[in-house]
Amino acid sequence: MIQLIRGFKDILPGEVELWQHIEKTARSLFEDFGFKEIRIPILEHAELFARSIGEDTDIVEKEMYTFPDKKRGLITLRPEATASVVRAYIQHTLYAKDPIQKFYTIGPMFRRERPQKGRYRQFYQINAEVFGIDSPLIDAQLIFMIMTFFSRLSVTGLEAHINSLGCHKCRRNFKDALSVFLSAASEKLCTDCKRRSLRNPLRVLDCKVPSCKEAMVEAPSILDYLCPECTMHFNAVKDALKKFNIPFVIDRLLVRGLDYYTRTTFEIQTGSLGAQNAVAGGGRYDTLVKTLGGPDQPAIGFAIGFDRLVEITDLKSADFVRKPDIFLAALGEKSMSIAFEWFCAFGVDGIKAELDLNGRSLKSQMKRADKLGAGYVLIVGKKELEEGSVILRNMTTKEQTAIPIDNIVEKIKKIIDHELHGYIKR
Ligand code: ATP
Ligand code: MG
Repeated sequence: MIQLIRGFKDILPGEVELWQHIEKTARSLFEDFGFKEIRIPILEHAELFARSIGEDTDIVEKEMYTFPDKKRGLITLRPEATASVVRAYIQHTLYAKDPIQKFYTIGPMFRRERPQKGRYRQFYQINAEVFGIDSPLIDAQLIFMIMTFFSRLSVTGLEAHINSLGCHKCRRNFKDALSVFLSAASEKLCTDCKRRSLRNPLRVLDCKVPSCKEAMVEAPSILDYLCPECTMHFNAVKDALKKFNIPFVIDRLLVRGLDYYTRTTFEIQTGSLGAQNAVAGGGRYDTLVKTLGGPDQPAIGFAIGFDRLVEITDLKSADFVRKPDIFLAALGEKSMSIAFEWFCAFGVDGIKAELDLNGRSLKSQMKRADKLGAGYVLIVGKKELEEGSVILRNMTTKEQTAIPIDNIVEKIKKIIDHELHGYIKR
């Protein structure tokens, strides 16, 4: 039997309702905060990611699914969304109409990492990006929006970790200090980090190898090298977070795994996922738009790990499964043909109906109606049809009523609508 690829997964009915609910919640909240949906392709030129995420990052070095296209050089299954959103902002000159743009996008990402709990090779992200706003208030507002989103989804026990990576000015002095530290610690670092120490020292701070992590505990922090403007920006972010009552931790060594970040960076961490404790991450990338050939516009964004979110929410998929409003139990060929017409009419009218097309006994149809959790069963029997009526059974109260068949679909729609709007909850 052919199985799915390691690190990939199916999201089956029974689980998918929770995913749908999370998506719906994201759309509604993000749109209330002024974000518009953007849909970007899954495949992009490999160069887009190499130039934005950075050549020396784990993602670009080891994790991308890149392969030659027949004529167009190397193409890559997107490992993240920001680069594509920036490309779209530039390519369609969206900034010309209004440099301030707010986008969100939801979809799969691909990274060839070692599969384990909370880490997949195809995983899903909910992303948001803001262009054209310098103010630190937007940084705090994004974190506020993520926290609101999580609280709507019954996720608790979260902690916001924040840091500032400064601008290129602050970065220069910091890199020198970090390089001095790294050359002294060189023996304790993994082979990758030895190389990175020379090419891109900041990357060592993000290495997941335990011995590297340990060696970096004493590393200098960029916070001690921030220029006055970056210090002011970071202070304003902290002040705004306090105003919003968002608890946060200053994580002096947090750099995140992508090269494009500047100033504010953050990660939302949970205590309940073991090693894969980041459920969202983001930050400013004030120079990326320009680097990719666009205008000099500041930007900030984040990505929420959808799969990890599903694992930590207290909500249950079962609570979002829509049960049939009505089950049509038809007995005999003539009844079946009439019931089939009603079955289709219910669907058109927004009533969720089920009909057993296999012509089984009343007993087994009732069993099935019960199993599916139908609110009502409409019994369409030969005798009833002769008498011009059908029997409606309320599956909660077990009450049965004979109803004349003229305008039956409308009659039943009324009963069900009344129930839904009369706050009788099934
Ligand atoms: P991590 O430190 O866990 O590797 P990351 O820094 O690589 O995360 P980002 O690139 O910032 O993560 O992506 C944002 C979010 O996407 C992460 O916080 C996480 O929740 C989720 N995520 C990242 N990689 C994976 C993966 N392989 N499987 C599932 N979720 C992932
Ligand atoms: Mg990672």
